[in-house]
Amino acid sequence: MIKDFLKKRKLPSYREKQFNEAYYQRGISSFNELTTWPENLREDLKKEIPFSTLEEIRTLTSKDGNTRKILFHTLDSLPVESVLMRYRDGRNSVCVSCMSGCPIGCTFCATGHTGFGKNLSSREIVDQVLYFQRFLNTTGEKITNIVYMGMGEPMLNLKNVEESIQILIDEDKLAFSPRRITVSTVGYVPQMKVFLLDHNYMGKVALSLHTADQKLREKLIPSAKENTLDEILYILDEYVKKRNKRVTYEYILLKDINDSEKDAELLAELLKNRLCLVNLINFNSSPDLPYVGTTRERIDRFMKILENNRINVTLRYSQGQDIQAACGQLASGVRPGHT
Ligand code: SF4
Repeated sequence: MIKDFLKKRKLPSYREKQFNEAYYQRGISSFNELTTWPENLREDLKKEIPFSTLEEIRTLTSKDGNTRKILFHTLDSLPVESVLMRYRDGRNSVCVSCMSGCPIGCTFCATGHTGFGKNLSSREIVDQVLYFQRFLNTTGEKITNIVYMGMGEPMLNLKNVEESIQILIDEDKLAFSPRRITVSTVGYVPQMKVFLLDHNYMGKVALSLHTADQKLREKLIPSAKENTLDEILYILDEYVKKRNKRVTYEYILLKDINDSEKDAELLAELLKNRLCLVNLINFNSSPDLPYVGTTRERIDRFMKILENNRINVTLRYSQGQDIQAACGQLASGVRPGHT
């Protein structure tokens, strides 16, 4: 955005550096704070470029204060939700959306039930991160992790997702470490091949797996019919070979659907000898969805079976359930869906 503005006025490149330093690195909260630019140039900038592409509509903070969910509107009035999760160990993780709504319609996901608004531009994605960085600036904290797990499927908005990652990791902009970025997908084979194998993506990847049974997966995730587990795992195996990074497999536990001992054994069989981490998430009830979470006893049994098969497994504590900011609860509402 800023390049065109400067080019039009034939201004020297140091003006761009000054802009990047103030806007991305210092996290100014209005163009008035861009004091390294002369006032007349700042005024022109204000007239031509919006300071943010997102307007904050509503903020919900969890009772424990650790989770903040923001409902934004884009400049064309479409809803976007993002969540900041602050952990006791000092991590500040931001969950961003790459779409307003989502066209896929996974049966366990509230976002999928809201319909599809649009793909977000790279700037609309980065503006979610900048919003939280400005918020954390007030306490001298920084964002430590960025996860593309909010509304939308990143592989269906790949160009803008990749552009946004470039802005996040650009040394002159946010200089964020790619190792602290995770992109989550339900699995689109052609796009995953481009993103993970052909392009130079250096971050982490998570697959919203939810079952090792292809037939059940097709019931939970409509796009699974055209993107089979065999094809998806082939791409992920190649990615592991190329990057030597483990893949996270997200698994939402749905009572009596995918939480039995047999389901755990099937999962263990699927992931045996793969460099992976299974992230179990107990389903967060949502009024519009026909599922409930499973019991602690079943979770323990499920985990034990994976551990006995030497599969790394964690149970993710879903923060922010009281404000519907936990996994699969964005769209309340509005909520990030993906897990
Ligand atoms: Fe879309 Fe992800 Fe929700 Fe599926 S889980 S409907 S891909 S946001």
